[in-house]
Amino acid sequence: MDYLPLFINLKDRSCLVVGGGDVAARKANLLLKSHATVTIVSPSLSLASQALVDDNKLVWINSDYHEEHLADHFLVIAATDDESVNSTVYEQAKLKNTLVNVADNTELCDFILPSILDRSPIVVAISSGGKSPILARQLRARLETLIPPTYGNLARLVGRYRDTVKAKLPTLGLRRRFWSDLLQGKVADHVLAGRDEQAEAALNVLLEQTDTHELQQGEVYLVGAGPGDPELLTFKALRLMQQADIVFYDRLVSKEILELVRREAEQVYVGKQRAWHAVRQEEINQLLVTHAKQGKRVLRLKGGDPFIFGRGGEEIESLAAESIPFQVVPGITAASGCSTYAGIPLTHRDYSQSCIFVTGQLKEGELDLNWSALVQTRQTVVVYMGLAGLASLSEQLQKHGMDPNTPAALVQQGTTAHQKVWVSTISKLPEVSEQEKPVAPTLVIIGHVVNLHEQLNWF
Ligand code: SAH
Repeated sequence: MDYLPLFINLKDRSCLVVGGGDVAARKANLLLKSHATVTIVSPSLSLASQALVDDNKLVWINSDYHEEHLADHFLVIAATDDESVNSTVYEQAKLKNTLVNVADNTELCDFILPSILDRSPIVVAISSGGKSPILARQLRARLETLIPPTYGNLARLVGRYRDTVKAKLPTLGLRRRFWSDLLQGKVADHVLAGRDEQAEAALNVLLEQTDTHELQQGEVYLVGAGPGDPELLTFKALRLMQQADIVFYDRLVSKEILELVRREAEQVYVGKQRAWHAVRQEEINQLLVTHAKQGKRVLRLKGGDPFIFGRGGEEIESLAAESIPFQVVPGITAASGCSTYAGIPLTHRDYSQSCIFVTGQLKEGELDLNWSALVQTRQTVVVYMGLAGLASLSEQLQKHGMDPNTPAALVQQGTTAHQKVWVSTISKLPEVSEQEKPVAPTLVIIGHVVNLHEQLNWF
């Protein structure tokens, strides 16, 4: 981060604008909007600047710029069309330790003015660090369409009720829970639709009915994080990720996805390795129970879909046994994500009418699968956790009658920027693995649909 975003209270602080053109007028207007006391120094004024003077909004010093004009101003913006004047202002301001900004010259700036989305008291500031103001403006335009104009009213309503809620709910945890429920419910809907009176009435009802006991109860969110690309998260996953107090995450959950979890949430890595699965799983189950019983909103974030080779069922069984409330959010499973990003449709009218997901995990060094169910024509077989047992998989499929030339693909780190796809046949899978040394996570896809990769590979 090259610049630290700060929101500065400029109320009644004196600020200087050097220049009297339209750019200067725009900068002066911005300062005036935040209630600063503005002085403008320039030997002439454009119409826009003149209008500000005529309306008595600011003080005009009718003169060329001189060092003494810096006086005790808190900050100065140089916006003349004379570069040498602008750099003089910059140098002199630096010496005096006055914050300085030179319009359109990032090199000569202590601070830069962001693109602003104003839903006061909610204000969003966007900066490209001076690299591309146009991009920042485009982003702002997108946010304009996403954040309704009434959004600020929501913040104002909360502001008005802060003290009342504080009096009723003694702890920070309770209040946070109350507000976060409220801001996602009916009250917020009323405000955003411009029905302020109904909103206030609904808030009062809610406040009266709020049972501190209920608010203190913890809950677990078992959430599927998808195969890697953060954009494959569901809206619901994102919402619950944003309200968690603590998150237990797996090896398969990417850094980019973790970045989207509420910043204040404690992050606990419970990634497990193949061999010592069984022991650790019970510990994880217990961790979820313990933290939920402390009244926390516990996020259990798992790669792909929690109910597909994710042991999600076991984790919520222990919650159910303890009567702890929980929600489960499905995620895009590796089979779906990897096949899509590899351009391999899992089913296709010409090649495959069914699809089967199996685990390739070894049990006492062996693959224990229903081979006759796998060796079917016009079917796609997807093998999760298949790397370690790849040689055995290849051998058994052939032994049970699958054509050695049946196409097979390995998709490593699917849907991420590091995705790699190797296409081969089932008989050659061990050889490919030997040569290319794929690493986890890798998914195996078997069937004639694999041939479509060459034509449909889009990612
Ligand atoms: N619940 C997960 C699967 C967990 S099992 C889901 O629904 O996707 C772990 C296996 O999933 C890995 O061994 C690998 O075979 C597969 N896998 C998960 N994410 C993957 C990815 N991004 N690329 C390739 N394979 C992946």
